[in-house]
Amino acid sequence: VRWIVHVDMDAYYVSCEIRGRPELAEAAVIVGPNPAEGASRGVVLSASYPARAKGVRSALPVALAAARCPEAIWIAPDFPKYERTAQEIRGLLRARADRVVPLSIDEAAMELERPDPGSVAAWAREVQAEIREKLRLPASFGASPYAIVAKVATDRAKPAGVRVVPAEETAEFLSPLPVDALPGIGPKTSERLGAISVHTVGDLAGAELSLLRPILGRGAASWRTLARGKPGPEFADLPPDAGPVQRSVDRTLARDTDDPEELFPILETMAEELAREVEAGGHRYQAVVVRLRWSDFSQLQRGRKLPAPAAGAALLRREAVKLAGALLERERAGGGRRVRRLSLAVGELTPRTAGQRPLDAFGG
Ligand SMILES: [Mg+2]
Repeated sequence: VRWIVHVDMDAYYVSCEIRGRPELAEAAVIVGPNPAEGASRGVVLSASYPARAKGVRSALPVALAAARCPEAIWIAPDFPKYERTAQEIRGLLRARADRVVPLSIDEAAMELERPDPGSVAAWAREVQAEIREKLRLPASFGASPYAIVAKVATDRAKPAGVRVVPAEETAEFLSPLPVDALPGIGPKTSERLGAISVHTVGDLAGAELSLLRPILGRGAASWRTLARGKPGPEFADLPPDAGPVQRSVDRTLARDTDDPEELFPILETMAEELAREVEAGGHRYQAVVVRLRWSDFSQLQRGRKLPAPAAGAALLRREAVKLAGALLERERAGGGRRVRRLSLAVGELTPRTAGQRPLDAFGG
């Protein structure tokens, strides 16, 4: 049986910061700009579990976090450290699995052939123990024959757990969960689903398609099939691996659109964010990939290999907009679907070395 194993580090930035400081193991620790030092507009990047118990979450405005948890210990983010550590984690995973697809800095999916759920769980526990012993970091694992279910299982395993969901137990596992436990169902969609009395995945499984369509669009049938425990091919597979090392950012849009004037500014912000992340990791990129997920959940991607390794946001912004423009144009000539989710990835990352001028320095 082919399994997809998903791994997500627990409170990753915080865990990277406190692993050398056992005195902070039980403390409310927040990684983010400290409002006591004048940062009033930033957001929390990562919160330890004791801080979460006080209502602090990532993406919470820092002023609000400080009000909820005055005793918190604030640590400024150190992105190069998190990136270095992520490389160590991936190295360890690659030694254990045939195919490792990084999904974000602290998340990856792997393919594994195992005859039964018990041997998948045993494998995950071994890898989890290795990460804990060698890197002193906590991680959670989820596994399923379906990529999306593996990710949901990981969320349910947190912190420091392992959850394996065999194919035949998918419906039973998903049914009691709130709809926003499904990746791709955000707060707005879940609110609209709540208005038609769809609160849990089980409710979604039993809902009329005619009621779901105005909210979930052409993907309604796919979501309902997933909720019934029979994910279709769109939920089964790992995303393509753009190379040995890549980084990406994704945005699910507040509403589906095909308007470049709405899409390009979002893409440009994503390019800024991604370029900063790559730079913080001490890398250059040589491949750029834009992936559009349409309102019917199919996806289309286009990529370009640059003539030389590049750095900086300006070039990435231009390339991203060019690639997305080509994809939108192609769609306009044919299907006319709207975009639901934008992904921007850079691949073929290489370490930055002194003395090299980035490609960006030569263009406007
Ligand atoms: Mg995480």
